[in-house]
This record gives sequence, structure tokens and C-alpha cells, in this order.
Amino acid sequence: MKTGFRRWSATMIFVSATTSSIFQRLGLRGGGRTIDKVRRGTSVFAEAASSDNNGSSSSPPNFSTAAFVNLGYSSVYNIDDASSSSNSSSSRGIKVRPAFARRTLSTNGTDTDSDGDGKGDDDDDGGLVSECDYDYLVIGAGSGGIASARRAATYGAKVAVVENGRLGGTCVNVGCVPKKVMWNAASIAETLHDMKHYGFSGYDSDAISFDWSFIKQNRDKYITRLNSIYMRNLSNAKITSLPGLASFTSSSSPHAISVTVTPTNSDQPTTTTVTARHVLVATGGYPTMPEGPGMQHAISSDGFFDLNELPQKAVVLGAGYIAVELAGVLQALGTDTSLVVRKGKAMRTFDDMLSDTLDEEMLRQGIQIYRDTAGLERIDVDEDTNLKTVTLHNGEVITGVDTILVATGRSPLVEPLDLPSVGVMQQNGTGYILTDKLSATNVNGIYALGDVCGNVELTPMAIAAGRRLADRLFGGPAFEDAKISYDNVPTVVFSHPPIGTIGLTEKQAVQQYGEENIKIYRSKFANLYYGPWQVEPDDKPKTGMKLICAGKNELVVGLHAIGMGVDEMMQGFGIAIKMGATKADFDACVAIHPTASEEFVTMFPWGLSNQVTGAKVTPLNGADAAQPVL
Ligand SMILES: Cc1cc2nc3c(=O)[nH]c(=O)nc-3n(C[C@H](O)[C@H](O)[C@H](O)COP(=O)(O)OP(=O)(O)OC[C@H]3O[C@@H](n4cnc5c(N)ncnc54)[C@H](O)[C@@H]3O)c2cc1C
Repeated sequence: MKTGFRRWSATMIFVSATTSSIFQRLGLRGGGRTIDKVRRGTSVFAEAASSDNNGSSSSPPNFSTAAFVNLGYSSVYNIDDASSSSNSSSSRGIKVRPAFARRTLSTNGTDTDSDGDGKGDDDDDGGLVSECDYDYLVIGAGSGGIASARRAATYGAKVAVVENGRLGGTCVNVGCVPKKVMWNAASIAETLHDMKHYGFSGYDSDAISFDWSFIKQNRDKYITRLNSIYMRNLSNAKITSLPGLASFTSSSSPHAISVTVTPTNSDQPTTTTVTARHVLVATGGYPTMPEGPGMQHAISSDGFFDLNELPQKAVVLGAGYIAVELAGVLQALGTDTSLVVRKGKAMRTFDDMLSDTLDEEMLRQGIQIYRDTAGLERIDVDEDTNLKTVTLHNGEVITGVDTILVATGRSPLVEPLDLPSVGVMQQNGTGYILTDKLSATNVNGIYALGDVCGNVELTPMAIAAGRRLADRLFGGPAFEDAKISYDNVPTVVFSHPPIGTIGLTEKQAVQQYGEENIKIYRSKFANLYYGPWQVEPDDKPKTGMKLICAGKNELVVGLHAIGMGVDEMMQGFGIAIKMGATKADFDACVAIHPTASEEFVTMFPWGLSNQVTGAKVTPLNGADAAQPVL
């Protein structure tokens, strides 16, 4: 069934700042083709690009707001005193807190914990280090790999990183970072559409245009700059960078793991073999494409970031977060966009309140949703026009399409590693690497984390896992059991409007604790931003919020929100839930007015739950979820 109508709504996060700055610059730059009136933007990134705060020119970078470029410098490393000067890393400008670095380092700068138990040597097996080229070899310089390598280096470990592509991995090059840039562009387009409701005119004139290639070029420059910051940071940390493709190979020593590195960009590749005491596999994943006639005409999310111009008519296949995010960007910027889902709606694994509200908002924005399609059957191309016809398994046909974007799933990037040669166990069917809670595989000395393991495939998860692993391997007794928790991970979907979610969905909570032990608090409202709009109440975009509480203590086990600004709302609530906050704790926090987030601490009936507080925190060893009192 095809549903949908084309009408505009607005969701915008940086409302006041962005709107005012846009207006100062309107008309300053045009360029590019003029797109249809509703979805025009303007070229405002020249200034933004020169004043970004991601540390393009200084080292260490300014991380004040550099969410995706937090390469490991944080204040904890700067509170050191002269006592850390005995640690080799102090000479690199990265100071290690003394409590972390209390083991004696051998003369070659490697520690003497050759059994890798994080406790230092318990017997005299010295000499093993000298059998290896490195203490720590990291395969994959993405989110998890770089974070782990740099953390290990701060402890004085001798570290090398093998990377086959661009430094920074998926997040920096074809994921979070370029996606967020495009989401920002789309959000500006939406604000421009809203401006008339605040008394600004000019939207319907030709003064506003949008130049996709402009933002694409500046986005690419920004990413290139990030790549070089990563390179500089590896070098500053004295980490050896080994460009090339890594594969495991058999080792002649029981204490050393061997990896071959085949340079990929050399005319005459020479494969080298390196050995290490510990090897981390952080090779991430890749987008999978469906099979069938004409599928070579479709692009993946990687291909989306290569597009040189704004598509006119696009079909996005997929029901996950990448699909709804990219569909939202395209629609907001002016592409006639269809979303094709196999079943009834997108985001089905999320709480129904989120997926249902998103569905309504996507329709309101004019995205056409093809439901219950059972997927893509074939793609045919008209050789004269180069336009494509998309045929779905349920018989529906979409014609005149220039861009078909498939975002139906990702797989772990494991094939080149030759894991069977060393016996690392993988999940049947998917290929994900199996590890314990400490990121250890079944093979001594080989670890894995991040997307290649398939647990919570998010950048901060990979970074946290990488750092904790390095802490455990090289950080001394304080970290001997250090691990991360996969419970209550806050996450945001940069759809239009954005979604924020932490913890259990309603269905999961009922399943886990029983319906009789669950209490749900809900709110649905139009953000004050839409207050002065002279439109029917039903036409104002809605914000939806839901608190899921369990047990007599009304422990908050799920928090879900969709609407303007919820993306920047989640982090603080994430801390509260990690600490075991109850409904009473939420109510005890005085509201900030007028904001949308105040709704979470004033949910009806306010202040009448059992007055029990939560707090249970064990951050170093994984901060397990608090439990309701049943
Ligand atoms: C479109 C998109 C949007 C996303 N948006 C977000 C978001 O908003 N927020 C968020 O938290 N997450 C987001 N993610 C997910 C996030 O990018 C990943 O979870 C994260 O990058 C995983 O990090 P990783 O270290 O496991 O792997 P990666 O970052 O993928 O790094 C793996 C690296 O290993 C290299 N490699 C692979 N095999 C070899 C080999 N044999 N030898 C040498 N090198 C090798 C690869 O080239 C790559 O550089 C997004 C992903 C996509 C695709």
C-alpha cells in the first residue's frame, strides 16, 4: 500500500542561533542549481567550516564540542604532576595519572606484564616481550581501534595500528560525521521553511538556493582534516602506523600472535609479518546489498556520501536507523523521497510510540512509505534517460527514480582476517566474532570489539570498549576487571524529527517484569516552537515522550522521546538511568522551564510515586542495570 502526501512541517534544533545567522548571510552565496521552492537552503558553511571547534590546527584539539573527534585527550590526563615523568608517555605530552601507571616499564618501553593478566608478571618469564615486535597490535583504525591503541600507549605499551583504508573508520568517513553534517543541512532547510511563522519573509522568493556540491566539498574537506588529525595523534602517541590489509598467520611462538600486513596502495606490495603479545580486532562492518536483477544500480550508505548532486527522486530501502536518517535528509533538502520497508513500518524494534510517531511525521513531511513490500525484487534502467524503475516483491512499482539507496543491513568485516587460521570463533550465519564480556575471544591474546562483534553497533560503544580493554591489559591492578556494560545505552536516531531512547521498550519491559509490575507515563504535545503558528493544532509536529517504570520503586527502565531537540536531551537522562533513577528521583528534579525536556520530570501524576531513590553505580566494572524491587 502506498501512503503519503506532500506537505511540510518543521523540526529544527538550533533554532535561534541558526536562524539569526542564516539571515545575516542570506543572499551572500548562491551557486548551484535552484531547487524547488519549498526546500531551499543557503550556503552558510563557509564560516562554519573555518570556525569549527574540532581542533583542525592544534594538538591536542579543542574537544569542547567535538563529539566525534574525541581522540582520547581528556582532562584526566592533564591533572598529572611531576611524578608521572618516570612514565615514557609523559615525554609525548600525554600525561598518565600516576595511579594508572604504577608498573615498572622495561628498558624498551614495554611493560612486563607478559602474561597479559593486567597484574604484571607473577613469575620470571621475562624475555617474552623481546619475542614480539609489539605489545599491542590493533587491526582497524576506526572508533574502537584508535581509542584502544591510544589508551594503551599512554601506559607505555609499544603499539602498532594496521589500517587498510582511511583513518577514523566508518564513523568519521562514511557514518556519524558526514551523516550529521547532512542532517544539519536538512535541519537548516526545515528552519527556512518555518521562518514565515516568525514574521520573516523571502522564503518564496528566489533569494534562497541550496548547493549540494558546496556542502559536499566542505564536508569532504572537513573529513580529510579529521583524517590528518587522527594521523597526527597516532604519531604524537608514538604509535606505529602500518597501512595495509591485516590477516592472521600461524606463529612460531606460543607467546606471540603473528599478523601479515599487505600494503594496499603500493605499486609493488610487499607483505610483512609482525608479531604482538596482544592483538585487537576492531575491523568494523560493511553495508550488505540484496541480490537480484539490476542491484548494481543501487548504492549503499557509503555511496550516499559520494553523491555529487542532490537526487531528484530517490527510493530508500530499509527500516533501520540509517534508512530513516538518510530518507529524512533527502526529503528535507528537496528530493522526492520514498521509503520502502519490508513489513508494516520502519524502526519496528524501537518502542511503538517512537516508530508510530516517526511514521506520522515522515508522512507529514511528504515521504511516501511503501509498506509490506517483502523487499526489492528488481531494478530496471531506461537506457535513454538513465532513470530506474524499482519493482518490489509485493508487485508495486516506482518509476522515474534516479537514486536507489539500500540500507537494509551491515555485516562484520572479517573475511580478509582469515580467522579460521587461528581458530577464532564466530557466530554461525552472521560471522560476528564471539567474545566474553572482557572483549576476549576464545584464542589467548586475541580480542575483538565494536561492530565486528555486533553488540550495540555505535561509535561510543566501540570507543568505551576499546579504552577499557587497554586499561585492563596495560593499566595495572586498578583495572584488572575493567569492562563495559551494554545495558541502558542512550542512543539517538537523527531522523526528522530526532529520536532518543534509553533502556527497554514497553514490550520488553512487560516481557521482563510482567505487566502487573510496569507503570507507563506518557506525554504528547506540540513544542512551544510551534505555539505562534497559525495552523490547525493537528498540523503542528508532535513531540512524544514515554517513561517506563518497573516495580514498587518505579525504577525507570525505559525512556523514549521523539521530537524537536530530543537528541541533545538524552545524555543527561542516560546518566540518571545508569544510576538507577526512579520516578521519584525524576520528580525530585525541578523542571527547567520552558523546555521540552521538563516534561520528563513533571509527568502526571507528579510526586505521587513511592518515594524511593535508585542510585547503584559500579562504573569501572560495567555498571550493570539497576533492578526493580518486585
Ligand atoms: C551511515 C552510518 C551512520 C552512523 N551514524 C552513527 C551515529 O550517528 N552514532 C553512532 O554512534 N554510530 C553511528 N554509526 C555506527 C558507527 O559508525 C560504528 O558503530 C563505528 O564506526 C564502529 O566502530 P569500529 O571501531 O567497530 O569499526 P569501524 O569504525 O568501522 O573501523 C574499522 C576499521 O577497520 C579497517 N579494517 C577492516 N578490516 C581490516 C583489515 N583486515 N586490515 C586492516 N584494516 C581493516 C576498516 O578500513 C576501518 O577503518 C553509523 C554508521 C553508519 C554506516
